[in-house]
Amino acid sequence: LIAFFLYLFFLVMPIGQLVQGAILVQNGLAALQRMKEVEDLPAEETGVAVGTASHEPVGLTFRDVHFRYGDDRPTVHNGVSFEVPPGGLTALVGPSGAGKSTVFALLERFYEHQEGTITVGGRDIRDWPLNDLRASFGYVEQDAPVLAGTLRENLLFAANGASEEELTRAIRRTRLDDLVSRLPDGLETAVGHRGVLLSGGERQRVAIARALLRKPRLLLLDEATSQLDAVNELRLREVIAEVAAETTVLVIAHRLSTVTNADRIVVMEGGTVRAVGTHDELVGEDDLYRELAATQFLTA
Ligand code: ADP
Ligand code: MG
Repeated sequence: LIAFFLYLFFLVMPIGQLVQGAILVQNGLAALQRMKEVEDLPAEETGVAVGTASHEPVGLTFRDVHFRYGDDRPTVHNGVSFEVPPGGLTALVGPSGAGKSTVFALLERFYEHQEGTITVGGRDIRDWPLNDLRASFGYVEQDAPVLAGTLRENLLFAANGASEEELTRAIRRTRLDDLVSRLPDGLETAVGHRGVLLSGGERQRVAIARALLRKPRLLLLDEATSQLDAVNELRLREVIAEVAAETTVLVIAHRLSTVTNADRIVVMEGGTVRAVGTHDELVGEDDLYRELAATQFLTA
C-alpha cells in the first residue's frame, strides 16, 4: 500500500513543483488513504453492516471547545460554540488563521480537543467508533488532489462498492457530464499529471463526486481559494445547493456565491465564533462579515 502511494505521489506531481507541492499532496494523499482505510475495513470492524448503514443526514455541535495543537503551541480554539442542524447548508467564514480548518480536523478526530464537547448526530465524537465517525463524513479538502489514473479510478478511489448507477448519478450531481463527454475516452481517460489536466473547478467537483460516492451523512467541504470563472462558479453553487437538499453540508466558504445561498453562516475570528446568521442579517449586523464579503471571502 505504501509503495502504491509513493507511486501515486510521483505520478501526481510535476517534477518542478515537487518541493512546493510535496506537503500539500502528502496531506491530500493522507486524507485519501484514511478514506480508503475506512472503506477497506471489513463490516465487523466498522460495526456497519454492508447495505444497512444509515445515510440519514446528521447534525453537529461544538460546545465551548478549546484546542491547541500542542502544549507549547498557541490556543487555536478558545471556546468555540455553534450548532449545525441535520440537512441544509452551513457556511463557515472568517479571516485566515481563525480556526476554520481546525474545526474539520477536530470533527475527523485527526486531533483531540482539550476541553468542551463536540457531538455528531447527537453523540459525543469520543463515543463514536472512529471508523463509523469518519465513514459518516465526506471530506473535501482545500485544493484536493487529482490522482494519476483514469477519471473513473479517481471517482471510485474510496468507494469501490459503488454501482454504475451511483457513479452516473454522482457525475450528474456534480455537473461533470460535460467533462466526461469532452474527454477522448470518457471515464477511462487518464487525468492528472500524466493525462488530461483538469481545471480548478473540475478538480474540485471531482473531489466532491468522490466524497459523495461514499454516501456521507455530512459533507465537509473546504473550498479552494482560487478564483473560478463564472461558469464554474455557477456550477459549484448548483452542486452545493443540490447536495445540501439531501444531506448536511458544512462548507468553509471562500466565495460570496456560496454564502449567499447558505441557510446559516458562522463567522469565526481568533478562535471564537463572533456571529451567526444569514447573509442579509450579517451584512446588517457584523462589520467583519461586511469586510469579508467585500473581499469575496478569499482568505486562506
Ligand atoms: P483557518 O482555516 O481559519 O485559516 P486554521 O484552522 O487552519 O485556520 O489554523 C488556525 C491556527 O492553527 C493557525 O495559526 C495555524 O497556523 C495553526 N495550525 C493549523 N494547522 C496546524 C497544525 N497541523 N499544526 C500546528 N498548527 C496548526
Ligand atoms: Mg483553512
